[in-house]
Amino acid sequence: MTVTNPLGVHALVWVGDTAPASIETAVAETAAAGYDLLELSLHDSANLDVAATRSALETAGLQIACSRGLAFDADVSSDDPAVVERGAKLLADSLQLTREIGGTHFTGALYSALGKYPAPLTATGRANAVRVLRELAAEAATTGMTLGLEICNRYETNVINTCRDALRLADDIGFDNVLVHLDTYHMNIEEADLVRPVHEAGDRLGYVHVGENHRGYLGSGHLDFTAFFHALSDVGYTGPITFESFSSAVVAPGLSADLAVWRNLWDDGADLARHAHTFLRTGLAAAAHR
Ligand code: MN
Repeated sequence: MTVTNPLGVHALVWVGDTAPASIETAVAETAAAGYDLLELSLHDSANLDVAATRSALETAGLQIACSRGLAFDADVSSDDPAVVERGAKLLADSLQLTREIGGTHFTGALYSALGKYPAPLTATGRANAVRVLRELAAEAATTGMTLGLEICNRYETNVINTCRDALRLADDIGFDNVLVHLDTYHMNIEEADLVRPVHEAGDRLGYVHVGENHRGYLGSGHLDFTAFFHALSDVGYTGPITFESFSSAVVAPGLSADLAVWRNLWDDGADLARHAHTFLRTGLAAAAHR
């Protein structure tokens, strides 16, 4: 049994910025570790050389997916029209960048800042997020691109914490190219288990992050990946599955702080990524047997 899902790794396993030399490293290491896809956060993409990045990915035969969260001063779930407008601009620019470097998937906390909110989401804020994401989805659809709504835990957003929240939000946005993005790290905090949300999402699952409960080496924590992989097989999921892990050994300005990466869970990104690739490949293949 072979795995047909594109297997990906987050660039923060390798490098903390998007300067040309860092992109070269991330692309080369991702390919060398056997992955099909590199996920790049667009948190800090001012230095990104679009043509060089696209060319490096093509040469290495890698797919690219882009992700991001918004910021408290540029947040489409805000009640403040000026803040919403800045969030909408960030999303539009990031979608364009994803397209230019050859990506078909733009995902993450596209609906809010990535951080601890002091109060619940307001009705106005939710309506603002729906309106902006509708426009973004329409723009993405013109070139066949998919938007992912990554479900994050309560300490990182107040908009969608469970798969049910995300399905409701996607229903309200109302575009077929807006899909659910599950992440086992967040699911461990918010969902009853790692199976039910996958079944709830079904064919509306469009992107997956696999991370341990502490975001270190896969298998070194307590998450039941066997059950999760069975669930992915149950619903016939064929989309990308990307390994996410963060350590203070590799720091991205802004993003590492937003993700509360305060401690060292590993030093050797290459060893970590190779281990995760084997873990995913063998675990997914075994789970496909019935
Ligand atoms: Mn994630």
